Amino acid sequence: MTVFQGLITAGRTVWDMTVIHESRRARLAALLAEHDVDAMLVTRGVNVRYLTGLVSSNAAVLVRGDASAVLATDSRYIETARRVCSGIEVIEQRDVAGGLVKMAERPGIEAHDMSVARYRRLGGEPTPVDGIVELLRVVKDESEIEALRTACDLTDRAFADVVATIAPGMTEKRIARALESRMVELGADKPAFDSVVASGPNGAVPHHSPSDRPIERGDLVTMDFGALYDGYHADMTRTVAVGTVSGWQRELYDLVREAQRAGRRALAPGAGTEEVDAAARGLITDAGYGEHFGHGLGHGVGLELHEDPFLSPSGAGRLEDRVPITVEPGVYLPGRGGVRIEDTLVTRADGPELLTRTTKELLVL
Ligand code: ZN
Ligand code: ZN
Repeated sequence: MTVFQGLITAGRTVWDMTVIHESRRARLAALLAEHDVDAMLVTRGVNVRYLTGLVSSNAAVLVRGDASAVLATDSRYIETARRVCSGIEVIEQRDVAGGLVKMAERPGIEAHDMSVARYRRLGGEPTPVDGIVELLRVVKDESEIEALRTACDLTDRAFADVVATIAPGMTEKRIARALESRMVELGADKPAFDSVVASGPNGAVPHHSPSDRPIERGDLVTMDFGALYDGYHADMTRTVAVGTVSGWQRELYDLVREAQRAGRRALAPGAGTEEVDAAARGLITDAGYGEHFGHGLGHGVGLELHEDPFLSPSGAGRLEDRVPITVEPGVYLPGRGGVRIEDTLVTRADGPELLTRTTKELLVL
């Protein structure tokens, strides 16, 4: 089935988003029977966007078994909705879920997006369905991968520009702000998430918030950041050395880089998510640092920064083709510092496509 169509004009692909959104709703409609519902009420904002293109903080869409759909939103978004959501009925309503749920006999609702109070207000007995649109979102079409490729390119370019300016005396906060403003100057919608800049001993904290600590000669500096472009989240981490690099720092860096390479090589359609994690983690454990790598190896990226699939020791499930995912091993030594190296890639039958292309050689600034 052709689920997307691109038209090349002047080197830029123009996607027919109407066709793409229609085919996404058709794929959802095809899943309804196995959940014993005749329509799905989609209320999670990111899922409404995926199925209709509308970005709104108050919208819902009802997709029926025949793939027809009704979108409800309030007066703030109604004009945009009428313009963006071609091919579906659009109605203006403040209580977006309450109005739509009555339009189906056996509706399913997104259980993971529904408080008990909201569920009760809906009335009737809609069937809780968990993560059905999230499942559809795992495998990306080429329009999505192109947006992510752009997001990663902006991330690479911002890094190249900012890394050239890092010097002893610059604070973590200043580096974080420089990365973020450079990404926006280059064309990002905004930063994809709050950047991590962790220098010296702060590098031992995987999600350290940038502080006023000035960079010192001899520090390792870990930067984890990314651009948001057209709703898609880039995610990259690099660790650099400032001035000099000591023996233990070089050793740790080489270990994490090898582990990251092993993780990237294990990415393939059909590979078990826990196998990919193990490919990288095994090297770190064998080197005696297993207890200092406390997080999973990676996560899917797309319309959300962290989405299925997750690479971890307790993971289950297999990777598919065209799944954007990060590979980000790290070793964190309390009181001393840490190293993390992270790329965003896409699984492909002929080997993963690397989207973040910044060098993984140890940069000594
Ligand atoms: Zn990251
Ligand atoms: Zn990440």
